[in-house]
Amino acid sequence: MHWTLKYLGFFLLSITLGTPASEENTDGDCLYNLDEIVGFSQTACKPDPNYSYSTDPDYLNNFSELVVPLVFWGINQDDGSNDDFLTESKVRESVDLLNSAFADMNICFELQELKYVNDSEIYWTDYYKFNKYIRENDYSKPATLNVYIPYRFTNNNNSLRGGKWSANQFSVNMLNYNTGILPHEVGHILGLLHTHAGAKAVNCEQVTRNEDDPDYNAKCSGDRVTDTNAMPSLYGKFHLIDTQCGYIGDEVDCKGTPYAISEQDVRNFMAYTQHSCRSVFTVGQGIRVREFIKNKRASKKLEFISDK
Ligand SMILES: [Zn+2]
Repeated sequence: MHWTLKYLGFFLLSITLGTPASEENTDGDCLYNLDEIVGFSQTACKPDPNYSYSTDPDYLNNFSELVVPLVFWGINQDDGSNDDFLTESKVRESVDLLNSAFADMNICFELQELKYVNDSEIYWTDYYKFNKYIRENDYSKPATLNVYIPYRFTNNNNSLRGGKWSANQFSVNMLNYNTGILPHEVGHILGLLHTHAGAKAVNCEQVTRNEDDPDYNAKCSGDRVTDTNAMPSLYGKFHLIDTQCGYIGDEVDCKGTPYAISEQDVRNFMAYTQHSCRSVFTVGQGIRVREFIKNKRASKKLEFISDK
């Protein structure tokens, strides 16, 4: 746990200042290319035996330190110009933010290289065209996590912030090099789903956290993390969130049960709430990440992650 309070001040400052209000939109802010598992077909909830579903901080603290090498890709115009250049100091801010966000999971991010692509074709273009172009031109370094930062994406009236598009590649636009969207996308890379996953599915995540309640399904539905409450996507519903990141709505789940949404849920990196609120992962999410990594590495995947 070498990343401590030193980074917290910077982190809170960066998420407060880094999110222009005009950028908020009513569409999802992140494109996640794997279909989220939205429910379970069997009548009984059968949790995946590869996960403990633990929310015990002592268990999380026992995982040994992992290192994730990062390669950042700044995208400039043909002549190398940029209206908002990705400098090395900005990239250092990004790395510090990730180290702060994932400190409790004992995951350390190290900047390996900052590279540039000078090509006006992808400086400000469609997200899918961008990804295809990067693939076709092989702008990717193996055994690292590749982070692409074009000026903007044209999708959603230029407001799309980013997305994960392979096991070791994701993008965020230049407005979000140091906002909560960055840990959000890395959360997807490391196995986390949105906290509102499957909220509209028939087998939506139920509100109860009493394991003896027949409705309890937190291990089989939603994000499969039990210390994030069932919640809907709150994009376009920011009037249901007060200035202290508290939930003040009266929405109900797919069975008509009122949601019990805490401030921690509103503040979750994997929620669709105001960016100024998004600043935490839960212990359960941390354990989910560490077990996801353990499971993937056992089958020789996520080769960009190494032991300290
Ligand atoms: Zn997302």
